[in-house]
Amino acid sequence: MAILKIFSFLLSAIAITAPFSGCQPSTSNNELNSKPKETTVNSTNSHTKLVSTSSKPRWSIAIHGGAGGDLDRWSPQQRQARIDGLQRALSKGKSMLSNSANAIDVAEAVVRVLEDDPNFNAGRGAVLNEIGEYSLDASLMDGSDLSCGAVANIRKSKNPISLARAVRDKTPHVFLVGDEADAFGIEAALPTETADYFKTQEQIDSWNEWRKRQDAKKNTTSRNDHNKPEDRLFYLGTVGCVVMDDQGALAAATSTGGLLGKKYGRIGDTPIIGAGTYANNKTCAVSCTGIGELFIRNHIASAVSSRLEFLNESLEQASRYAIEKTLPVDSGGLIAVDAQGNIETIYNTPIMARGQANSEGLYRVGLADWVDGEPK
Ligand code: ASP
Repeated sequence: MAILKIFSFLLSAIAITAPFSGCQPSTSNNELNSKPKETTVNSTNSHTKLVSTSSKPRWSIAIHGGAGGDLDRWSPQQRQARIDGLQRALSKGKSMLSNSANAIDVAEAVVRVLEDDPNFNAGRGAVLNEIGEYSLDASLMDGSDLSCGAVANIRKSKNPISLARAVRDKTPHVFLVGDEADAFGIEAALPTETADYFKTQEQIDSWNEWRKRQDAKKNTTSRNDHNKPEDRLFYLGTVGCVVMDDQGALAAATSTGGLLGKKYGRIGDTPIIGAGTYANNKTCAVSCTGIGELFIRNHIASAVSSRLEFLNESLEQASRYAIEKTLPVDSGGLIAVDAQGNIETIYNTPIMARGQANSEGLYRVGLADWVDGEPK
């Protein structure tokens, strides 16, 4: 009899928690949610921050500003400029979500703030390719209906993420590239800019330094060249945003200038749905940053979602698998939010510019260590 009572108590407990579990693995999320304080996990080759709150947040947001760069190379002013840029973008997202904006609108608006900021490798301030020119890639995805838009190798639209949005909103297609994509942006009356706007002195200087290094190497580029730690300095600044809004909708957006010195015509993971960007309300929203070729080969963004959907893993387990088990050390990171509002910001590089906020008062940004709270 006692055993029967315990059994029926357990059944009713499961029934009470079920509405909050959605299609997510309820055990691990509930485990996370039951922890009173935030937990920090560091392992030898990755850094992750787990966010736990006592109840499901009404909304959650995470941003990234790239998994590359080197703190020692940046002056205190450059570090502060990047922190300030993250703060501006996160504040924008927070204020829109507090006013019940849609996930896709928030993801686009936040990425626009980061694209306009020359301290990040997207829009203005993009890195330069092997011939010293810029070309821009971006994509976004709405987890409500899997609608998405992507653009690559564009050079005119001031905000590549808004051009990707226009592809989603105004065409039956997913992906436009090159001059034709830029022409579509002009037809859609999106603002354009010229090289003077996109090419910053900081990026011209970085390109000159890269050129000297290439000349010194005097060898051909091999398939895994971008995987060498000394090249880490140059992976900086791609931007992204993932959101769960107060209706439970998820969205992801990512924008980049790619890798410094990339081959003319090269396209990375950022505009490839499933590689650099993915969102599905049933599972999670993911935005990646790092060596694009590795993220494409391992379709990292959709792999995280699939692990939730088919293996019943938690967001933490799936994100860790992608960054710690699938990818080699020093290849990049990702941000993700799931349908319960849990957030992951995980990377296997020394730093990743990133930020997290939710409706329960979480608010912080960081390059390596976190800076808590909104700026005064
Ligand atoms: N993933 C981007 C690319 O390969 C670069 C980055 O994230 O920094 O184009």
